[in-house]
Amino acid sequence: MGFCKNVKRDYNAVFERDPAARNSLEVILAYPGFHAIFFHRVNHFLWKIGIPVVPRLLSHAVRFFTGIEIHPGAKIGGGFFIDHGMGVVIGETAEVGEDCLLYQGVTLGGTGKEKGKRHPTMGNNVTVGTGSKILGPIRIGNNVVIGANSVILKSVPDNAVCVGVPGRVTKKKIIRMTTEEGLIEVMDYFPDPIVERLRGLESQVEALTKRIDAMERLRDKGGKMKIYNTLTGRKEEFIPLTPGDVKMYVCGVTVYDYCHIGHARSAIVFDVMNRYLRYKGNNVMFVKNFTDIDDKIINRSKQEGISWDAVARKYTEEYYRDMDALGVRRPDLEPKATDYIKEMIEIIKGLIDRGCAYELDGSVYFEVERFPEYGKLSKRDREEMIAGARVEVDERKKNPMDFALWKRSKEGEPSWDSPWGAGRPGWHIECSAMSIKHLGEEFDIHGGGADLIFPHHENEIAQSESFTGKPFAKYWVHNGFITIDKEKMSKSLGNFFTVKEILDKFDPEILRLFLLSTHYRSPIEFSDEQLRETEISLDRYYSTILRINASLEKDMTKEGPHNADKNFEAMVLQFRERFEEAMDDDFNTALALGHIFEFIRDLNRFLDSRPLGPKVKELLQKSKELLSEVGKVLNIFRRTPEEWYHSLIVKKKIGLSEKEILERIKERQDARKKKEWEVSDRIRKELDEKGIIIEDKEDRTGWRVRVG
Ligand SMILES: [Zn+2]
Repeated sequence: MGFCKNVKRDYNAVFERDPAARNSLEVILAYPGFHAIFFHRVNHFLWKIGIPVVPRLLSHAVRFFTGIEIHPGAKIGGGFFIDHGMGVVIGETAEVGEDCLLYQGVTLGGTGKEKGKRHPTMGNNVTVGTGSKILGPIRIGNNVVIGANSVILKSVPDNAVCVGVPGRVTKKKIIRMTTEEGLIEVMDYFPDPIVERLRGLESQVEALTKRIDAMERLRDKGGKMKIYNTLTGRKEEFIPLTPGDVKMYVCGVTVYDYCHIGHARSAIVFDVMNRYLRYKGNNVMFVKNFTDIDDKIINRSKQEGISWDAVARKYTEEYYRDMDALGVRRPDLEPKATDYIKEMIEIIKGLIDRGCAYELDGSVYFEVERFPEYGKLSKRDREEMIAGARVEVDERKKNPMDFALWKRSKEGEPSWDSPWGAGRPGWHIECSAMSIKHLGEEFDIHGGGADLIFPHHENEIAQSESFTGKPFAKYWVHNGFITIDKEKMSKSLGNFFTVKEILDKFDPEILRLFLLSTHYRSPIEFSDEQLRETEISLDRYYSTILRINASLEKDMTKEGPHNADKNFEAMVLQFRERFEEAMDDDFNTALALGHIFEFIRDLNRFLDSRPLGPKVKELLQKSKELLSEVGKVLNIFRRTPEEWYHSLIVKKKIGLSEKEILERIKERQDARKKKEWEVSDRIRKELDEKGIIIEDKEDRTGWRVRVG
């Protein structure tokens, strides 16, 4: 039976393991390790058949004269040997495989107080060195060697050598494999906790260094930024989740028609935010989507008699043409909704699994009741939200506020396969899918027009936060409306202007500057009159640059009647700071432009005094640089005065080229030389009628295009 067989193997083990063992009598009389296992086998048998107290008493007595305490409950395989066994302790629920060897001072113990399995299990042929402790219900694999004084708290795989406190695997098994290239040796991978910890620490140090760098960059750039957060209803200090790394998502256009100036405003506002955040030293990841499937696109495809995707392609191209003209930098990523159907289905499935959405006849709805914070962005009460939700009426919905995540397709409509049958995504889900995919479950800025706050952004928050269990975007930023005669401009009211129409008459920089002249959250009253005024402002900039250029052509080596004006010098020195201060305060481009045009006015006054001298040259050059730098942030002032006038000639349909204008001026000068005043006046009048104004200066005649 097992008992005798095991004892015999234990006895043989002594001879195998201990080269000092000479004869059987010595082993039977003078090997405490052998005594301990022999009596343990007796004890364990009594314990198993349920005899009380005696086994415990016996194990206590054995400990007394061997120094080895083995709880009667421990299960120990045959061929077990404890060499120099003083101080060995083996716990009640310990299990030891066959042919194992322990040295003195080894503990196979537990760490917890709970009942049940709390001691280690060892495989076969394990050797445990002096003083080692193996603690807890862990598994020590077959053929493991544990070095002296190790403390093992985690399971050890087969064939490993393990040392240290806490124990770590130091030797990895080499597997020999026969392949086409003959016999090769492959290192098997075992986890090495120390190396893993070091790697973890290294990457932490790297992340911290990056953060410190970014924070220093931010500090050097002069202070903190504030952003108005629609979610909290107040201006907050802007602290990205990872300082120095800004992740921003903006809801883009549905591509079914030409862009109107509302689209242009949103695009320009977020373009400037993107540029300013970069100017401040941040890395920015800016994602803006295209909605390329939607009821409006389907309707338009019926109207135009082309496929829905041809509609989307056509108006995406139109969008780019307008936005490129307006100097809108393309975002880092511009995902299209229909490329993310798989991701959307995953989220919808997740929401159903979490009990936040339900299927209804091939469509899936988000159950608003399951998201108690619904309404936190728009700050609307339930009645208002129900009224706002009326568009999506389906009598069978559990609640009128529930919104569609997936819509069953009607006959002949575009559709995609889904677990709920052929259909297409609801509008809101696309932004959650694309932002989570590219920016992560939590990111910094989510933006869009104020008309998106409800229901679109409210729904995005509900579905995203229900899906991830984490807060979605940290800052919600919304730009204001455009009004015409104090009424909101909108397609449904028919009082809208397309970008294309406006750019037919006005230079695109004028529209851009006009849209930035009001704070992004305030409404803008739009009219041609306003654009004409903006044209005058912009012309003032370009004509000032002309004046500076003309001054710089003068001999600046000699000091002039007016040396560098102290006030003006102070103005130059403070200019950048004032610009940044304005922009740091919730991207106040209106105030920033106020400072810019005040600076231009002072610059003109300074030029009026006809200053000369090296210091003057330095100040003028500095001024030009500063205007160009801040212009870069707003993406205005990017052309030469000559390019500006050329554009005006084209937009205003003057009908003369620059060359022809110069020819006329030459004719007029010749007439003047010959004192043919009538001819000279006639040419001036002709040009004036066409919108070209002639200016006689000391030594030459200049021209400009009439603005306003
Ligand atoms: Zn969106």
